[in-house]
Amino acid sequence: MIDRTRVLAEMGIKPLWRLRQAAPQPSLPEVAVALGSTPESTPESAPEPAPEPAPAPRVAEQAMAQLADYPADELINDLAREASRELLIEQIIDVPDDALNALPSERRRIPTDWDGLAAEVAGCSACGLCKARKQAVFGVGDRQADWMFVGEGPGAEEDERGEPFVGQAGKLLDAMLQAIGLKRDKDVYIANAVKCRPPGNRTPEAEEIAACRPYLVQQIELVKPRVLIALGRPAAQTLLGSETSIAAARGKLHHYAGIPLVVTYHPAYLLRNLPDKAKAWEDLCFAMDVMAKQRSAG
Ligand code: URA
Ligand code: SF4
Repeated sequence: MIDRTRVLAEMGIKPLWRLRQAAPQPSLPEVAVALGSTPESTPESAPEPAPEPAPAPRVAEQAMAQLADYPADELINDLAREASRELLIEQIIDVPDDALNALPSERRRIPTDWDGLAAEVAGCSACGLCKARKQAVFGVGDRQADWMFVGEGPGAEEDERGEPFVGQAGKLLDAMLQAIGLKRDKDVYIANAVKCRPPGNRTPEAEEIAACRPYLVQQIELVKPRVLIALGRPAAQTLLGSETSIAAARGKLHHYAGIPLVVTYHPAYLLRNLPDKAKAWEDLCFAMDVMAKQRSAG
């Protein structure tokens, strides 16, 4: 469900109880215009509401009741028109409801086609990681894959070669893919939460992940995978939109924008903690079950 208060706030519309000048029984566009008038736009000379029962609060109440009954989509459309903020609203409408909680960086305009998106990433300077990278690492694989794996960010070899998961962790990922009958160029797409290498392979900061997230969101939108796999905590947090640990998130079926999402360990972690490979295998088996159900559902 769309959070109306946030939508209104995003549009710069101040608290609804500021409504003063709507005529009785206003039509929705009139309500929108009235709502668009913030206290700042009220003329200085405007008299304060008289102490006797003023009609305004009643009008406000009616308007509020009317708004409450109004379907959210139509409300947004009408308000958008009236407030002349189509650009922002168009983007809000185009993203899943939960993205209304997104940071402002999520709403910058990015290309929606593969070539445009790849070019944008190659030249991106939306976060500090652009400074030390050799090149941004976009993603690799089958752009119509049923499976999509999301890692954390490029390491030294990926930065050098411009392809995700080509170092030691990548070899293990290839083995994991092979174990479930997949190859990186067939039925799998692989991308990272951040496209540029964090210096010294440190974990990307929350702001860096947030700045880069629109690219991942768009990649997912283009691939439309049937199942998403988050490799490690940063990827899981990016897709779940919440703080979590791998221990808490694995073994459960999550969803990202309606797509089933399975969380497992990052292959680099598994290289350092070999016994946990058994748990990663369980997670992959779980993911295969989820995929089988997705496919049988059509
Ligand atoms: N680790 C990641 O998360 N991604 C890569 O591309 C390489 C290593
Ligand atoms: Fe842009 Fe992402 Fe690279 Fe930051 S990590 S500069 S947001 S492509």
